[in-house]
Amino acid sequence: MRREISVLVPTPAYSRLTGPLTYETQEDLQPGCLVRVPLGQRDTLGLVWPQAPEQPATSAHALKAIHSVLHGIPPLSAHWLKLIDFAAHYYQRSAGEFAMACLPPSLRDMTALQFERKLSRLKPLAPVSAEKALQPPLTPEQTQVLAQLAQHSGPFLLHGNTGSGKTEVYLRRAARMLEDTPQAQVLLLVPEINLTPQLEARVRQRFAHLGETAIVAMHSAMTPAQRLNSWLAAHLGTARIVLGTRLAVLASMPELKLIVVDEEHDPSYKQQEGARYSARDLAVYRGQLEGAQVLLGSATPSLESWHHSRAAVEGQPAPRYTRLSMPSRVGDGALPMLRRVDMNNQPRKTLLSAPLLAAMRERLGRQEQVLVLLNRRGYAPVLHCAECGWKSECPHCSAYRVFHKGDRTLRCHHCSLTQAVPRACPACGNQDIGVLGHGTEKVEESLAELLADVKRPDGSPLRVARIDADSTRLKGELVKQLAQVHDGEVDILVGTQMVAKGHDFRRVSLVVALNPDGALFSADFRAPERLFSLLLQAAGRAGRDAQLGAAQGCEMWVQTFHPTHPVFEFLKRHDFAGFAAQQLLEREQAGLPPFSFQALLRAEARTQQAAQDFLNAAKALGEARLPADAGGLSVYPAVPMSMQRVANVERAQMLVESPSRKYLQQFLAAWQDDLQQLRTQHKAVLRWAIDVDPLAI
Ligand code: ADP
Ligand code: ZN
Ligand code: ZN
Repeated sequence: MRREISVLVPTPAYSRLTGPLTYETQEDLQPGCLVRVPLGQRDTLGLVWPQAPEQPATSAHALKAIHSVLHGIPPLSAHWLKLIDFAAHYYQRSAGEFAMACLPPSLRDMTALQFERKLSRLKPLAPVSAEKALQPPLTPEQTQVLAQLAQHSGPFLLHGNTGSGKTEVYLRRAARMLEDTPQAQVLLLVPEINLTPQLEARVRQRFAHLGETAIVAMHSAMTPAQRLNSWLAAHLGTARIVLGTRLAVLASMPELKLIVVDEEHDPSYKQQEGARYSARDLAVYRGQLEGAQVLLGSATPSLESWHHSRAAVEGQPAPRYTRLSMPSRVGDGALPMLRRVDMNNQPRKTLLSAPLLAAMRERLGRQEQVLVLLNRRGYAPVLHCAECGWKSECPHCSAYRVFHKGDRTLRCHHCSLTQAVPRACPACGNQDIGVLGHGTEKVEESLAELLADVKRPDGSPLRVARIDADSTRLKGELVKQLAQVHDGEVDILVGTQMVAKGHDFRRVSLVVALNPDGALFSADFRAPERLFSLLLQAAGRAGRDAQLGAAQGCEMWVQTFHPTHPVFEFLKRHDFAGFAAQQLLEREQAGLPPFSFQALLRAEARTQQAAQDFLNAAKALGEARLPADAGGLSVYPAVPMSMQRVANVERAQMLVESPSRKYLQQFLAAWQDDLQQLRTQHKAVLRWAIDVDPLAI
C-alpha cells in the first residue's frame, strides 16, 4: 500500500527547507527508521520523522519514493527523536542538519546493502566473567553521596574537591545501575578523552566482568569505522557503558539510566561550530526526558550549575539541582598552600623570579616534581624589530604570528599561516630582531639553563618536558608523555592548560602559574571564573600523594602584578563557594547569566562594514517584532569580534539578552525568518550563525 511519510534529510542549516520532506513508500515505516532517499540529484540518508506529512496538494504528483530502508536495527526511539527536535529548536538549527550530525558519519554514505553487510559482520558479544574487580572501601563522604544518589532522582551537582574521589562515586553509581537493571546503559561524559587516558583504563578495569564489548568510547578522534561500531553497540544495547566527549550526549541509548558529566564546568562541552549545543545542558534535558539520573561533577562547577543548586530558601522556587559535596581529599592528601610573588618587586622582564627558582630547587633536590603552567604555546608570541618597530603581524588576521623556535617558524595560531623565521627585519633589513613575551618553549629552555646545576640522584641532568598542542600533535604522543611524567622520568613539566586537567601526577608537590594576570581584567565576564577554575584545578595536581603532601607541604606559586586581587584571596583559602558567591553577586547586579539569557548573532564578510550592516539590519527587523513590553529583551548594537579578522574574513557579532529564557527563545525563532530574508539582500555576508548561551562574548 502506498503511504506518505515525513523524512528528515541533511538540509543546509538555513535553507528554507528546514522541516522534514514528504516521500512516498510501500512499506509501513515507523518514525526513527533510517532510509535512503533522493534529494535533488543526490541519494542521501534520511530519518523517518514522527510529524504527519504536510502535503502541498499541487505537487502531489511529483512526490518521490524512498530508495531503500536500512533494515536490521530497531528504529531510533521516540525519546531520541524528541531530543533531536528539542535541541534543533533550542539552538536554532534545522532538525535535518542536527539529526544527521548526530548520526555516525559513515552511516551517511552507506547503501542499504552495505549496511546489511556491516551488521552481519558485527563482533559477537564478548563473554562475561563472574569475577568482579575489587572496589576500595568507600570514604564516609562517598558513602553519604551515594546514599543520596540512591534516594533522590536528581539532577545532581557533585561538588567534590580534586582528589576527593568523585570518579569512584561515578563508577559505584554506574555499577549499581547496571546491576539493578539487566539492560541498563550508562553514559559517562568527559571533556576531552585524549587528556584522560587513565579514566578509560579505570572504567575498563572496573567493568571488565561485563565483557570487552560492553564498554565503548565515542569521540571525534575515532575513525569513521570505529564510530559506527560504537554507535551501533550503543543503539543495539550491547554497550552498557558509553564513555565519550560532548557528541556522545546525542548517542542513541535506548536503555539509558544514568548520565554522568565529569568536569561539568569545562568549556569543551560547548560545541563551537555548526549547531552550537551544550552537551552539559542537553544531558540535563535528556535525563528529564528519559527518566535517567543526571550527575554533574566538578571541583569548580560552572556558576550556572552552582546557581541552579543553591541552597533551598523558603518562599523561593526550589533549586533545580540537588547539591552534593565532598570537601575532603581521599587519604588526607593536603591541598597546596598558595604563595604569591609580587612581580612589581622583581626586575623588569623577569620570567622566572628568584624566590620561585629557589623553591623549585628545593623540591627538585628532594626528587619531587614541579608543574609549570603557562597559557601560551610557542617560544614568543611576537617577533619584533627595535629599529623600525616592525612586528610579526599575520597578514590575514588581526593577530601576531608566534615564533616557534623548535622548527624556526612564524606561525599564525588562527589561520595556520606558517613561514620560516626571517633572518633580518622584513621592513628595514635590521639583522637583530628580538622577541616580545614568552611561551612554553621559552620557559622550557630557560628552566633547563637556570637549573643546569641541579642533578638527578644518578648525576644526570634534570629532565624538563613540555606538553602543549605542539608537542602532542602526533597521535599517541600525549599518552606517551603523560606516562613519562607518571613514571618519574620527568622532573619539571611545562605546559598549557592541557596539563591542568584531570591528571593524577602523584609526585608533583609544586605547581606554578607563571603569568595568569591577563584574565583578571578581561572584557569577557567569564574570564575570572575560568581563571579561578584553571588555578584551582592546577593546584589539585599537587599533593595527590598523601605522604608527600603531609610530609613536606605542597605549594602553588603564582607570579602576578596583582597579588591582592580577590581571585587569589579565594584561591588561597581554596574557597570555591566564596568565590562563586562574590561572582554571582556581581553578575546579578549586572544582569548577566545565570540571571539573564544570551544569544549572539555572528556574521562574517570581506569587510567589517558589510558584516555589521547585516547585523544592524537584523537588529532593526528584530526590534520591530518586539512588543512595547518586550519582557526586558534587548538587542545590542553590532560590534567587531575580539578576534576581528581571521584568514581575511571580517567578523562581527551582536548580543541579544533577556531575563527570560522562554522569551529569548520565542524571539529567536521568529527572528529566523527575518535573518533568512536579509541574507538574500546582504550578498556580501559569507556566513552567519546564532550562538545560544554563548560561552565567550
Ligand atoms: P577525583 O575524581 O575527585 O579527582 P578520584 O576518584 O580520581 O578523585 O580519586 C582520587 C584518588 O583516590 C584516586 O587515585 C583513587 O583511586 C583514590 N580513591 C578514590 N576513592 C577511594 C577510596 N574510597 N579508597 C581509597 N582510594 C580511593
Ligand atoms: Zn625593522
Ligand atoms: Zn593568520
